[in-house]
Amino acid sequence: MRKLAPLLSFLPLALFAPPALAAPADQKQLAFETVERNAQAIADISDSIFYFAELGMQEIESTKLMQDTLTAAGFKVTLGGAGMPTNLWAEYGEGRPKIAIVTELDALPGGSQTPLAFDRKPLVEGGPGHMEGHNTHGGVASAAAFAVSRAMQRYNIKGTIALSFGPNEEQLASRPFIVRSGAFKDVDAIIYLHIRDALQTGYGVQNYAAISSRFTFHGKTAHGAVNPWDGRDAVDAVELMDLGFDKLREHLQPTYRAHRTITNGGIQPNVIADTGEIWWFVRDASMPAAKATYDRLLKIAEGAALMTGTTYDVRYAASAWPQLANKAMLSACRNGPSRNSNSRATSKPPPANPSSACATNPFRSAAARRPPRRTTMAMSLGSCPRGFSISPHRYRASSITNGTPP
Ligand SMILES: [Zn+2]
Repeated sequence: MRKLAPLLSFLPLALFAPPALAAPADQKQLAFETVERNAQAIADISDSIFYFAELGMQEIESTKLMQDTLTAAGFKVTLGGAGMPTNLWAEYGEGRPKIAIVTELDALPGGSQTPLAFDRKPLVEGGPGHMEGHNTHGGVASAAAFAVSRAMQRYNIKGTIALSFGPNEEQLASRPFIVRSGAFKDVDAIIYLHIRDALQTGYGVQNYAAISSRFTFHGKTAHGAVNPWDGRDAVDAVELMDLGFDKLREHLQPTYRAHRTITNGGIQPNVIADTGEIWWFVRDASMPAAKATYDRLLKIAEGAALMTGTTYDVRYAASAWPQLANKAMLSACRNGPSRNSNSRATSKPPPANPSSACATNPFRSAAARRPPRRTTMAMSLGSCPRGFSISPHRYRASSITNGTPP
């Protein structure tokens, strides 16, 4: 955690600097120190969200935690934008440049798992869980934004740092609605944060295109023993669609990915199903390639319906394009002064303004409310020294402290 968060906090500062002028080292130093001083709070927030383990569009406790934390940090927080109750947008400062850190908090169904257990060991049998590490996003993103806000406040840096926690990333669901709501219309740059297995940034085309669609087949029910000849089995169509795509797989480009789940497979064996449903994700390295595979999937559905005498309808659910990441932003991140550079912090920061830095910092009171530390896990970042005790207890951790020296 101590390695990841400072990097993420650095990039916004670099972007807030005038074009030809790197942000002064002492400004960045303040941001780095703010992150370092909040390392435990970052881990606590991540742990809390891990145990909340809420599915997409149901990130209620997770967003409440972030709302409380960011409000106490001096951010203006809006919950429920774009018609989604768990859509959170937070801002600090005003005017341009406006930089947004964009990420998500949702868990996956069936992903409940005891931290640090290598064997399958659910905390809650059948419950959702953070299989992918989204739990780390809350602490890392909010601490990065908070660190920037501290530097903006102390050094009178103009602009806005924004934070978007969009619901339900796992089903590609919310971002188009957030964009259409106008949330990004005056945003100059976006830093998209997603945990990976390495500390890195990238530019150019990032991630895969994905299309999500549900295919529902409609047949005619009958008794499987008494009069099966009167039936038209919708689940047969589901099976044939699955089989048909498997026959296609050999003839697709190596970059494709496709996966499905049968969301309605009938009722019981002796009842011929009049409804069956299969839900597909189709992906590829570009949207035209994903669309080409998707068009062939549509033909397979048509064929499955023809073979079984059923009808079908397609419910297109969502899609996502690859991101085109900016090389200049990447360079600002990678080529900035290192945290250990001798050039940094050569000048002393100005004295803290008691009305803006320490005295009225809301995190002071939040820190006073901090609960006893029960968990020190940072599982998703792969750092967990031996001997840590892990408790599934849920608690809130709004204990970010300001970055100024005590
Ligand atoms: Zn994800």
